[in-house]
Amino acid sequence: MMSLEECLSPHVAMTQRDHTRLKWSKPYRTSDRIRPVDWTCACRATVYELCEGRGQAFIRRIVQFDRKQEIHETSRWSLAEARVIWAALLSGSAW
Ligand SMILES: [Zn+2]
Repeated sequence: MMSLEECLSPHVAMTQRDHTRLKWSKPYRTSDRIRPVDWTCACRATVYELCEGRGQAFIRRIVQFDRKQEIHETSRWSLAEARVIWAALLSGSAW
């Protein structure tokens, strides 16, 4: 949704030349123990969420188009690994 308000969440930077390519899969069964702990700004068509739960973490990618959503997820990592990859994604060196 376009908005004139200031964006509060970060945007993903322009992809850098030698970025890490993440593997995106169809979502696993959703568990209510999993919660988003960080996310990118919803003003973009593609929103990324860092999700944590049960000592694991992954990144969810939501592509919004024509009122539909296409959701993909990475595989599971440890919380520490996921935070490193999340930072890389925000800086444009992983996607
Ligand atoms: Zn924004």
